[in-house]
Amino acid sequence: MTSDNRVAILGGQPLIAAPFPRWPIWDDREREALSATLDSGGWWDGDGERAARFASDFAAYHGAKHGLAMTNGTHTLETALAACDVGEGDEVIVPGITFVASAGAVLAVNATPVLVDVDPETLCLDAAAAEAAITERTRAIMVVHVAGAAADLDALTALCARRGLHLIEDCAHAHGTFWRGRGVGSWGSFGSFSMQSSKLMTAGEGGVLTCNDDRLRDLARSYANCGRVEGEWFYHHVRYGANLRMTEWQGAVLAVQLERFPEQNRRRNQNAVALGEALSRIEGIRPQFRDPRMNSQGNYCYVFHYDQAAFAGMDLRLFEKALGAEGVPMGVSYPSLNELEVFKRGDFGPRLRASAPKIDYASLRLPVAEHAARSTVWLQHRLLLGEPDQVLDVARAVKRVQDQAAAIVAAGG
Ligand SMILES: *Cc1c(COP(=O)(O)O)cnc(C)c1O
Repeated sequence: MTSDNRVAILGGQPLIAAPFPRWPIWDDREREALSATLDSGGWWDGDGERAARFASDFAAYHGAKHGLAMTNGTHTLETALAACDVGEGDEVIVPGITFVASAGAVLAVNATPVLVDVDPETLCLDAAAAEAAITERTRAIMVVHVAGAAADLDALTALCARRGLHLIEDCAHAHGTFWRGRGVGSWGSFGSFSMQSSKLMTAGEGGVLTCNDDRLRDLARSYANCGRVEGEWFYHHVRYGANLRMTEWQGAVLAVQLERFPEQNRRRNQNAVALGEALSRIEGIRPQFRDPRMNSQGNYCYVFHYDQAAFAGMDLRLFEKALGAEGVPMGVSYPSLNELEVFKRGDFGPRLRASAPKIDYASLRLPVAEHAARSTVWLQHRLLLGEPDQVLDVARAVKRVQDQAAAIVAAGG
């Protein structure tokens, strides 16, 4: 092998020379929107309409009736649970593969997260496993559309209807995912979106809570607005609530991000489909399943399954390093929630002290989620905004690493 051909991790040139688009993306439109907000003097939602209008437009885009502009995508989940009257003594089913906040929000309302295994192809909550985990204390099922891949919403909405449970969609990965023609976040009692910096549209931080039910919407708004009732006196607090409101700065930026979003979503989808076809031709690589009932996928990450047997036994971490060296923007899978220290130690601070059902998370096994955490590769979404041929370079880089896998393994990384 000539030195020109060597993989980057062994001293060769990276296969991908030009950088992928940076994230976040902004231009003068954000700058002008921020400047106009400054000059308006209306910096919070009591004195402006930017955040509220953005949230409502964002909800409409996803086919939901209401959208509430909030601090972040953790508080939106907590608010959804509170509005559904989930609290002490209740259980909420949460999938093993997700960010800690999905379970953290359940703890925030002092309810018990019941961790359940995922589907091996979509990595989303397995509907049959969720059904098997239902007890008389179960009040809600939280589904996470992992890396934007929709969970089986037909099965989950039917299950929740049959068992009288709330479905709460954690859509933090799935801005722009459409299931049978309608956006995620419009199928359950609530949909929760994050606008934190790594997400598919962002103001650094932020969240939108979507829903279709007027009563649930009012309860959620009250919880996020200090327990107030809209239209009534400022110091009329009728229930427990907190200040979880989005600022007008965030609303101003996000309104522009939403204008740019449909085109970005289209581009990400085209590139993701083409990349999936190219990766499928490589032995040992299997892209995350794109359910044909999904019209588009808002790819928070691009995820594929990795079989180290087809790569001379190269372990996942070394493969990630080798691929990153080729110029691919790498992410990393979450550990399965049951493998996080917070659950193994059961240290929930002031939560779950008294009457809550006790779960021994340390001895809980979620075989599919645990395996997926060790055998899936997560790539940053910004690469999906690259030029089509540059995106296909990702598959060429995987192949290049495979062709020289034995040498990489022998060098030991
Ligand atoms: C990012 C994220 C959240 C939390 O959103 P924040 O805005 O960071 O609070 C919740 N769930 C999932 C799956 C996420 O990725």
